Amino acid sequence: GDVTLEKVRDFVWEIPKQGDMRVPARVFASEALLEEISDDKTLEQLRNATQLPGITKYAICMPDGHQGYGFPVGGVGAMDARNGCLSPGAVGYDINCGVRMMTTSLTYDDVRGREQELVDALFANVPSGLGGGGIFEGTIGDVEAILADGVEWALRNDWAVTEDLEHCEDEGKRPDADPSAISQKAKDRGKNQVGSLGSGNHFLEVQRVTDIYDDGVAAEYGLEPDRLVVLIHCGSRGLGHQTCNDYLRRIEKTHAGMLDRLPDKELAAAPAGSQLAEEYYGAMCAAINFAWVNRQLIMHRTRQVFEQVFDRDWRDMEMHLLYDVAHNIAKKEHHQVGVDADGEVVTDDEHAVEYETRELYVHRKGATRAFPAGHEEVPSAYRAVGQPVIIPGSMGAGSYVLSGGERSLHETFGSTAHGAGRLMSRTQAKNEYWGGDVRTDLREQNQVYVKAQSGATVAEEAPGVYKDVDEVVRVSDALGIGDRVARTFPVCNIKG
Ligand code: 5GP
Ligand code: MN
Ligand code: MN
Repeated sequence: GDVTLEKVRDFVWEIPKQGDMRVPARVFASEALLEEISDDKTLEQLRNATQLPGITKYAICMPDGHQGYGFPVGGVGAMDARNGCLSPGAVGYDINCGVRMMTTSLTYDDVRGREQELVDALFANVPSGLGGGGIFEGTIGDVEAILADGVEWALRNDWAVTEDLEHCEDEGKRPDADPSAISQKAKDRGKNQVGSLGSGNHFLEVQRVTDIYDDGVAAEYGLEPDRLVVLIHCGSRGLGHQTCNDYLRRIEKTHAGMLDRLPDKELAAAPAGSQLAEEYYGAMCAAINFAWVNRQLIMHRTRQVFEQVFDRDWRDMEMHLLYDVAHNIAKKEHHQVGVDADGEVVTDDEHAVEYETRELYVHRKGATRAFPAGHEEVPSAYRAVGQPVIIPGSMGAGSYVLSGGERSLHETFGSTAHGAGRLMSRTQAKNEYWGGDVRTDLREQNQVYVKAQSGATVAEEAPGVYKDVDEVVRVSDALGIGDRVARTFPVCNIKG
């Protein structure tokens, strides 16, 4: 595209404020990643996002950034909660898509030679794919209870233990959830999908810990070399998708005036304080709760599968939730911003004459919250070391556990990357790869056992369609926004 960037310092690039931009934009990336980011519409989308009302400081693109619906995946935008806006496209269609990691006391040796058995058992017991049911199929009343109460609902129904709540972002419940703001159609779509992975990029992966970078933090997180862990990636299924769609259409109509002044229809936003902003926020929080229950049920079912396969109690195998973190979300948060003598927000805190606290809608789309040690919203179990951040790579690459970095509140409103990030579209991927070959290669070259509902999915998710996760994490670590703790490698993987 025609976007010019200036280098601010190592790993920090800026699109200076010009024309209709309200603030500058910043890209956090190495030169190699920046080249890949520049290949699609990401930078144009990032520049467009700087025109959203109330956007504060700068629009942010993470090292894993790529183009999305209106707003980049790997994007962060903090909009003033008094005079800014909420934009469903800057949250993403899959509300509270996210990841959770469960640790175990099993080691790679415990599963070697039995990978096929384990992957078959997981595949048979964890629903996946586009259609199909969920682990729990209830009434609309059940769905409403899930939307209102999140993982507390799972606890009441024996799908969780108390410590699972303590190890989930917001303890698995957004109290601002408003189930009545979710349409009947969305509830109907969600009814049979509670506890289901869905298709495509969503997966359940058994991994082994291969590298530890910080012994102290790894010990706090319960991570040891060679141990098996389980990584679950999925979101709010049809319910969240329908909700995003419902609100985009309503916002486009009701706030057409605001939309006319924006450079892309896909950025449709509701002004802060408007009826629709309140409704969308309540609906989004409800969909967030739904996604947390979804991942909780899948994790608990995984414990049961391990009990069958290994013939031991899950507690005896120490199958504890390490953490669950959202990567498609908007949250009202308080952040300190540096201001100059005129009270204008500065882009680099060292130029601040003082700090002000702002209430912001922090949109993280394909970005992970990464609060540092000491932050009051980090669960008490991790407050001394910082919030766990989980960054998946691909089914043929490492994944990472990081801890929220010291610099994250200054640089990125307490955020970092969410994955390796796509290099090519699904259509391109299907031209490049054939599912059967990808699966065989993974098995023979990497001892990774993959089982999927469709071969097309395996092609679309081939390791080669993603950027280099090691490079993404290197940038996060160097910037001090998310610090490397451990790396894992896949053992077996199921997907839609
Ligand atoms: P999303 O689809 O949420 O934007 O991306 C999440 C990230 O998950 C991707 O950027 C990619 O790095 C990673 N990913 C996708 N498929 C797999 C997989 O099968 N296994 C692992 N470990 N990571 C994956
Ligand atoms: Mn996701
Ligand atoms: Mn998703």
